[in-house]
Amino acid sequence: MESYRQYMESFQSVSDPIIDDMENYASEHHVPIMDRLGIDTFISLLRIQQPKRILEIGSAIGYSAIRIADRLPEATIVTIERDAERYKKAVEYIIQKEFQERIFIIEADALELTSNEHLEVEFDALFIDAAKGQYKRFFEKYAPFVKTGGIIYCDNMFMHGAVLIEDAKLPKRNRTMIRNLKEFTKWILLNPEYETSLLPVGDGILIAVKK
Ligand code: SAH
Ligand code: MG
Repeated sequence: MESYRQYMESFQSVSDPIIDDMENYASEHHVPIMDRLGIDTFISLLRIQQPKRILEIGSAIGYSAIRIADRLPEATIVTIERDAERYKKAVEYIIQKEFQERIFIIEADALELTSNEHLEVEFDALFIDAAKGQYKRFFEKYAPFVKTGGIIYCDNMFMHGAVLIEDAKLPKRNRTMIRNLKEFTKWILLNPEYETSLLPVGDGILIAVKK
């Protein structure tokens, strides 16, 4: 064993054929779903928090939403995805798992969505896991839908290590995205309206409690 990560991964086993299928699909089609350690830790945090209503930005094929629904039987999840093919795949998996009554997926660009019946009641938790260069915009648009005392979680705060690369050495194509993500990180960590911390698990999970 070379790292705690490898050690922890050595205990993981597959228990559900549909989840297994989703993981294989994601790996074959390069869909960036949360890794096992990240999602397991995130689910544990949610189990401590016990949110009843969760809003997710970036469903992809529905992996995180389904994993959460599996482990939080009381929770309802509203999730937004703009990519038509991933949306379709997510719907298929939600039906296979019979979660149609608990996971409501909206096919839309979250930054353009104006109104939706599923957004009319406040949320206990918001999970931002869509375009990494837009986190501040997602946050500003959707944090008002979260109750006081509710929690905003964000995935990929480390951008697979890219946040460690010196600005000048960043590849041009994702320089703006990384800059935006770092600016968002600084902004939220210093924001007095939230109690925020960064958890170095998975690809970095941000936890911001709304005061
Ligand atoms: N939460 C998923 C992974 C999401 S990957 C999981 O862990 O299982 C990020 C997804 O966000 C991609 O599928 C991408 O199409 C979507 N996305 C990016 N920007 C978006 C936007 N503005 N509105 C809606 N979806 C967006
Ligand atoms: Mg992610």
